[in-house]
Amino acid sequence: MSSKLIVGNWKMNGGLAANQVLLDGIKTGLGAMRCRVGVCVPFPYLAQVQLLLANTSVDLGSQDVSAQVSGAYTGEVSAPMLRDFGVRYAIVGHSERRQYHGESDELVALKTKQALAHGITPIVCVGETLAQREAGETEAVVKRQLAAVIHENGHCISEIVLAYEPVWAIGTGRTATPEQAQAVHAVLRAQIKAATAHAERVSILYGGSMNAANAADLLAQADIDGGLIGGASLKAADFLSILQAAHRCAG
Ligand code: PEP
Repeated sequence: MSSKLIVGNWKMNGGLAANQVLLDGIKTGLGAMRCRVGVCVPFPYLAQVQLLLANTSVDLGSQDVSAQVSGAYTGEVSAPMLRDFGVRYAIVGHSERRQYHGESDELVALKTKQALAHGITPIVCVGETLAQREAGETEAVVKRQLAAVIHENGHCISEIVLAYEPVWAIGTGRTATPEQAQAVHAVLRAQIKAATAHAERVSILYGGSMNAANAADLLAQADIDGGLIGGASLKAADFLSILQAAHRCAG
């Protein structure tokens, strides 16, 4: 199995000075960590963070990408523009974008396609709300969300990163138990396997209040290949603790 992948999602946080402090702290503690690492930063800071991450093993990511390549789409940022700043990952379909910006499964699939077409690895987020979980719909919801992305992207699906992020666990401090997360990851793994002969290339991350205290147990699950980290990616010490948990998984 390849090493775990830990990606920070800064959301709409940060500033020129704060970013420098955070990344200096992460770089100082990084050492020879045996895991893959990325940070997904707000668009205005891509240039700054690209420079700060030069000659490190930390990859740069964005938190969204347009479904269009160029033209009259005010406020959008295209995949080729992201490539100009060395962006390796783009989060697509985060629940906050589905919820606050009305992003549909189909739009998420098109954004995934744009990223892939321009050499950016999309981190495709899927996950159920609390109401859907309580109604026993978790499996159906995540399968529907992933099916739209598979439908649009065909055999390229092996080039995505998938993130299972139960909406009720994001930013709430309420984490899925390792068993709950593993059960959904196994469903997603089976769906990917049915769609491509190269399913082993797809890392499936867990996201939702992952922190220093719970990371090791979550990352120990067979189908949890890493984490997408919101709040705990904003403090170097917290993020480094999660990286250390991932590092220890490498044996
Ligand atoms: C996220 O925003 O992707 C996330 C997982 O947030 P948090 O870790 O804060 O729950």
